[in-house]
Amino acid sequence: MSSMTAARVVFLGPPGVGKGTQASRAAKRLGVPAVATGDILREARQKGTPLGKEAQAYMDRGALVPDEVVVRIVEERLRQPDCAKGFLLDGFPRTLPQSHALDRTVTKLNVALDRALFFDAPEAALVQRLSGRRTCPKCQAPYHAETNKPKREGVCDRCGTALVTRDDDQPGTVKRRLAVYRTETAPVVEFYKKAGILKTIPSEGTIEEIEARVAAALA
Ligand code: AMP
Repeated sequence: MSSMTAARVVFLGPPGVGKGTQASRAAKRLGVPAVATGDILREARQKGTPLGKEAQAYMDRGALVPDEVVVRIVEERLRQPDCAKGFLLDGFPRTLPQSHALDRTVTKLNVALDRALFFDAPEAALVQRLSGRRTCPKCQAPYHAETNKPKREGVCDRCGTALVTRDDDQPGTVKRRLAVYRTETAPVVEFYKKAGILKTIPSEGTIEEIEARVAAALA
């Protein structure tokens, strides 16, 4: 049985704050799908679909993929039957126009967002996290060289694939992504604050400590 009640949730925060790790854990506890636009785009790239090809250049330089592209992805995803009981959006919305589009989508679906969680950490901690991040190129599971090691070094616990450092986790690109976050995504936090559904999660500490804060914020 899930102890959480919020079912339609967005996770906001800068790159490297640990929201992906928390998103998969919280989604499991809530019994709803985690919808991560970054994962969907990376999968499309790997498969070489037209969407993947379109997104590639933006992603590689740490820029945002155009709003209309990600909005379309999310709309289609939220219409799938498994999202009827709820969903956890991770990495979307990332701009004000995306927030407005999400409002329109949930209205069309006759539902409302229950909560927006803002994962907050100082920039120095983000850079440290991103530089140690390792990702499974197949199932997207996130690891960290020091704080979240796989059971067998360099290999994904879930699917046995060799872990990689994402291209956009290289130092130069990380700086760009943090700058994009400050200008494009920080206003989204204000948007949900004004809407009265925002809760801030201090995001320093162990994965378990942060998970407990998330559980409390979603109860
Ligand atoms: P992430 O895995 O969430 O860090 O996303 C990786 C990259 O995918 C980002 O740097 C963007 O290029 C792209 N991306 C993911 N989500 C979005 C979004 N909501 N809006 C625009 N671009 C996105």
